This record gives sequence, C-alpha cells and structure tokens, in this order.
Amino acid sequence: MTHTLIDPFQRAITYLRVSVTDRCDFRCVYCMSENMTFLPKKDLLTLEELDRLCSSFIRLGVEKLRITGGEPLVRKGIMTFFDAMSAHLAKGTLKELTLTTNGSQLDRFAADLANCGVRRINVSLDTLDDKKFADITRWGRLPQVIKGIDAAQKAGLRVKINAVALKGFNEDELFTLQEWCASRDMDLTWIEVMPMGDIGNEDRLDQFWSLKDLRSRLANQFTVTDLAERSGGPARYVRIEETGQKIGFITPLSHNFCESCNRVRITCTGEIYTCLGQEGHSDLRAPLRTSDDDAVLETAIRAAIGLKPKGHDFDYSRQDVSGRVSRHMSHTGG
Ligand code: SAM
Ligand code: SF4
Repeated sequence: MTHTLIDPFQRAITYLRVSVTDRCDFRCVYCMSENMTFLPKKDLLTLEELDRLCSSFIRLGVEKLRITGGEPLVRKGIMTFFDAMSAHLAKGTLKELTLTTNGSQLDRFAADLANCGVRRINVSLDTLDDKKFADITRWGRLPQVIKGIDAAQKAGLRVKINAVALKGFNEDELFTLQEWCASRDMDLTWIEVMPMGDIGNEDRLDQFWSLKDLRSRLANQFTVTDLAERSGGPARYVRIEETGQKIGFITPLSHNFCESCNRVRITCTGEIYTCLGQEGHSDLRAPLRTSDDDAVLETAIRAAIGLKPKGHDFDYSRQDVSGRVSRHMSHTGG
C-alpha cells in the first residue's frame, strides 16, 4: 500500500480541510440565514472520530490540515482535538496545522493554539466599522474580534485577514482595510461571494462585487504586480509595490486552479467533498462507526479520492442550471 493519495488526474492530495461543527456564534448574511436549523448532535463526528479520521489522512500523506466550520472554536472541547493533531506535528508527519475563524473566541484560545503548534491562522473580517460589522454578522461584535486578533498576535500567531468582497458594503473600505492590515503586519485576502445555501432574504446578485473590479481599483492607486505564488487552491496573489504588502484574491468559482488542486474537504458529519464546487461526495462516517479497523477507513478514503472530479466545470456536473450549490459554506467549511 502506498502512502500517498493520488486522484484519477494524478494530483497528490496533501491538504485536508475539516469542518468540526456546523454551529456558529455569528450569522453572517452571505453564509447563514438568521434562523438556521443545525444538525442533531449525534450526526456530528465526535472529537475522537475526528482525530481518527484526520490521523488516517495524515498516514495517507496529508501534510496540511485546516480546521474550519461553522466556527471551529465554539465546538466544545475542541482543544483536545488540536492537542491530538499537535502530536502529528511533533512527529513531523503533519507539516502545518491551521484554522479559519471568525476571531470571536481567540482571546480565550490563542495561547493554547500556539502551544499546539499552530503558527498561522485566517481570521474572517469584512469591515472595520462597528455598525456595519454588527449588520453583516447579525450577532457579532467587532471589539471582541479585534481583541481576539490582538491576543493571536501576542501569542505569536501570524494572522491573515479574509474579507468577503460585498458590493455597496465594503467597497469603500478597500484601502482602509488594506492599510489597517499593513499597519498590523497582516496579509489580506479578498474572497468573491459564492452562491451557496439558502441564506434567507439576501439577494446574491446584490452582494456580488467582482474581484476584477476590486483589482483594477487597486491598480488605479498603486503599482500592482502579479505574483507567481500558488497554493494549489483558488487564491492568486499580487504585491503592492509601494508598501510591499501581499494581497490575495480568491475567486472560488473560477476553474483555472483545478489542475493543481491538492485538497479535499470533510464536513462535520464525515462526508468528504473532493471538489468545493460539486455536489458529489462520499460518506466516511459509516466506515468510521461500523469498524474499528483503520484499514476499512483507509479503503473508504482511497475510494472517495478515486472519485475526485477534474474540476467544478466538469461535464458531468451535478450542480443545478444556475451553478448554485445547495449546501451552506458552513457545512463544507470555507
Ligand atoms: N466561521 C469561520 C470564519 O468565518 O472564518 C470559518 C467558517 S466560514 C464558512 C469560512 C469562510 O467562508 C469565511 O472567510 C467566510 O467569510 C467565507 N464564506 C462564507 N460564506 C461565503 C459565501 N457565500 N461566499 C464566499 N465566502 C463565504
Ligand atoms: Fe459563522 Fe463563519 Fe459563516 Fe460567519 S462565515 S456565519 S462566522 S461560519
């Protein structure tokens, strides 16, 4: 048995993103409806199951693990899981352990995360205006998140800010967010809003602000150089020559990165999605729960990787006509 996961298009799968909960203490308008129905607890993988599953992926060659959600830091006991993963870091079998968070719980957990070997984190933050922040997250409070970012930096974590580009909402903060990130030595990445899940009354088309437009606004003001750097995912980077700052752009629905895609995603219920933009998935919870034998689980993982599609514009796409994906981002993890 080889210890590398290779998909049918000869891509080695080395990056796993795991959603550890569908719950969240915010209700961002582009992500959730105000009255979300969450999954019954019994459907979620337990922390032990998450450990067993991730450890199997690491044995099979996954080197980078990103923990996401929902809000990963609201999962009760989550530090036990980080602790378990840090053992793989210590052995050198796992190269990077990281997370994507809304920052609300960082004040509490930043030091523990750093102790578990986490070095870099992504914090999602779309605005620096208190009122706008409360509006976009519905339940969030900006000062709490800033306090969390302070704690993360104090603990030595490198912070990258992810901002969803929203028309008429944070267009006017393009430069203020950039300057704020530069002043705190944080990278900034803009994410194009994706049509995922039912989010209530919000109209997606109203929210859409193309990153092409965002980039050209930057280029009107600064000298913007494209960087060759790629992460195997949908992010592209530019450098602002005047400040040396690196800015990322994530256009999840562009498909020009699929050839180098090295990642798969696991939901909090143990479904594996081998492509963010496709509905196709396999169940890993059943093999986890029906057998204690890791060989059974590894066979199921390999079978799922064997179904990874070429890309999300694949001819046999199972998306509906508008290209909309029915699940929420909080289900698969962003
Ligand atoms: N709660 C954590 C957070 O907000 O960072 C982790 C999970 S969240 C689903 C991960 C990322 O997905 C966040 O950066 C969020 O802004 C982004 N996201 C959520 N819904 C999105 C959508 N419809 N389009 C684009 N990005 C979205
Ligand atoms: Fe929660 Fe993150 Fe979704 Fe906002 S984007 S509702 S913080 S899971």
